[in-house]
Amino acid sequence: MKQRFFNVLGIPIIHSNHHSFIDLLEGQIKENKKTFVVTANPEIVMRALNDKGYEGYLKKADYITADGIGIVIASKILNQPLPGRVSGTDMMLDLLEIANQKRHRVYFLGAAEFVLQLLLKNVHERYPQVEIVGSHNGFFDWNDNNIEEEIKSTEPDLIFVALGVPKQEQWIAEHLDSFQKGVFMGVGGSFDVIAGVVKRAPKTWQKLNLEWLYRLIKQPSRWRRMLVIPHFLVKVIFQKQRG
Ligand code: UDP
Repeated sequence: MKQRFFNVLGIPIIHSNHHSFIDLLEGQIKENKKTFVVTANPEIVMRALNDKGYEGYLKKADYITADGIGIVIASKILNQPLPGRVSGTDMMLDLLEIANQKRHRVYFLGAAEFVLQLLLKNVHERYPQVEIVGSHNGFFDWNDNNIEEEIKSTEPDLIFVALGVPKQEQWIAEHLDSFQKGVFMGVGGSFDVIAGVVKRAPKTWQKLNLEWLYRLIKQPSRWRRMLVIPHFLVKVIFQKQRG
């Protein structure tokens, strides 16, 4: 099937809703097609504009989804409205559900050790048929670890990487060539959410597209990161004017 992409400041975002994208990933898993998914927000797009190295990592991605509501707003400004967010946490939850039904093999990379252990416990309890083939916390020596070897030898279908931006995209991009198969996805703070360490916004807030505000209230130290959003929107308006 031909995919449509929406270009925001040079970054191609897949034009898809959550369910179609999950179907697409299920197809990739079925066919053992190696796939790198980036779940993008304005911070990621702005980082790619300002950091060539990071832009290079995104170029290796097969699909970049609109995780942040800022990307969806940008699509409306540019008259190419996206159907909505395709969020990393929602995808991870649905993919775990599918993995539970199909007994897929899953590897978890990231977060603090205690968060990872809580996540593994919750996944084991809620999705008992998921085959957890391995895991590693996200605080390791970048040049001296056996994570790549472990993933190669255990051949997971799904590899969730929660190292935050930009490390998760960097890790996947730098190691991708070594693997034969697997859907690799950077999922940011999702391990903390599924571990139960960070509470997700209530459904009403999510429906009102205010998940970011809830997160900001709960973790006020994140406010600095949000300063990028007005800058992002100004750049999008310039993109619109250039036509
Ligand atoms: N993290 C990690 N290694 C690092 C830095 C961060 O494993 O070197 C983890 C962190 O503990 C958290 C996750 O990455 O579980 C996501 O962090 P953050 O909320 O900052 O994600 P972002 O908002 O950047 O996606």
